[in-house]
Amino acid sequence: KLYNQVQDLKGSIRVYCRVRPFFPGQSNHLSAVENIEDGTITVNIPSKNGKGRRSSFNFNKVFGPSATQAEVFVDMQPLVRSVLDGYNVCIFAYGQTGSGKTYTMTGPKEITDKSQGVNYRALSDLFLIADQRRDTFHYDVSVQMIEIYNEQVRDLLVTDGTNKRYPFYQLFDSPLVFSSQKGLSVPDASMVPVSSTIDVIELMNLGQRNRAVGATAVNDRSSRSHSCLTVHVQGRDLTSGAILRGCMHLVDLAGSERVDKSEATGDRLKEAQHINKSLSALGDVIASLAQKNSHVPYRNSKLTQLLQDSLGGQAKTLMFVHISPESDAIGETVSTLKFAERVA
Ligand code: ADP
Ligand code: MG
Repeated sequence: KLYNQVQDLKGSIRVYCRVRPFFPGQSNHLSAVENIEDGTITVNIPSKNGKGRRSSFNFNKVFGPSATQAEVFVDMQPLVRSVLDGYNVCIFAYGQTGSGKTYTMTGPKEITDKSQGVNYRALSDLFLIADQRRDTFHYDVSVQMIEIYNEQVRDLLVTDGTNKRYPFYQLFDSPLVFSSQKGLSVPDASMVPVSSTIDVIELMNLGQRNRAVGATAVNDRSSRSHSCLTVHVQGRDLTSGAILRGCMHLVDLAGSERVDKSEATGDRLKEAQHINKSLSALGDVIASLAQKNSHVPYRNSKLTQLLQDSLGGQAKTLMFVHISPESDAIGETVSTLKFAERVA
C-alpha cells in the first residue's frame, strides 16, 4: 500500500537520502546538516562572511544519522517485494567515498544480524514471501554479481580463478541481448541459483574476495568501481502455469567525489574520468525518465546499457544518495544533493 502511494506521487522513480553519523571521537565536529524533517534536509553552506547560507532539498525520504539498518529497509521493502510480482527494480547507492553507501547496501566490515545491509535483507525477505506464497506460486531465485571498472565488466562470482589471470573481460560493444529465458542478464557472468539466506551470504563473501583481487592497501579499487548484485526471480503460478519474471539490481556505485584534475595523473585520472562519465550518464538517464522524455540516452555508459531494461518502462528505480555529516565535506554534499534533486 505504501508503495502505491509513493508511486502515485512520484511515478516510478524515487529518491531517498541518508546521512552517515559522525565517527566515534568526532563529537566536536561541526555538522553540515542543520535540520532533517520528513523529506526535507537543510544544510549550512559556509560563506566568506562567516554567516553561512542555508539550503533545503526535498526527497521522498530522508534518514538521519540515527536511522537503523532495519528502519531504512522498511522503507525499501515494498519495492523489493514487487520483484516477486514481476517488476524490474534498480536500487542505486550514490555518494562520495566514506558517506555510507556500502554500509547501506552491505553493512559495516564486521556484519552482525542488526547491521546487515539491504542486500542481505532483500534476499531474506524474498525467500520469506516466496515461502508464504508456496501454495500458489513456485519461485526460482538466482543471482549474478559483477563489477564495472573503467567501463569494463568483471564477473565477481567466478570460482575457477580465471578472473585472477584475466581481471576483466570486455563486455561486447553491442548492448545486452535480451533473452526470454533469463530476462536481461550479463551473458557470461555466472548465474547462481540460491534458495536460502545462507547461500546468499556465501556468495557475497565470494564476491567480496574476488573483488579484493588486484586491489592493494594503497589502491583500494572498491571505491572506484561500481558493484552490482542482480537478483533474478522467476515465478510460476501453480494453477495456471503462467510464468512471471522480475529482476532487481542492487548497485553500490563508485565514489562520486570530483578528482582534482591538476593533481590526478595516469591511471587515477583515467579512473576519475570513467567514473565521472558513468555517473553523469546515469544521472542523465534517470533525469530524462523523470521528465518523461522520449529519448533516453542509455548508450552513454556500460552501467546504463547494462541496466537499460530495468530503468524506465514498468521498472521501478530508487536513487539512494548518501552524505557525510562533516562541515568540511559540504562541497561534495551539495553536489550530491543537487545530483539527487535533478533526478527526483
Ligand atoms: P562508502 O561505501 O560510501 O565509501 P562506507 O559504507 O564504507 O562508505 O562508510 C564509511 C565508514 O562509515 C565505514 O566504516 C562504515 O562502517 C561507517 N558507516 C557508514 N554509514 C554508517 C551508519 N549509518 N552507521 C554507522 N556507521 C556507518
Ligand atoms: Mg564503499
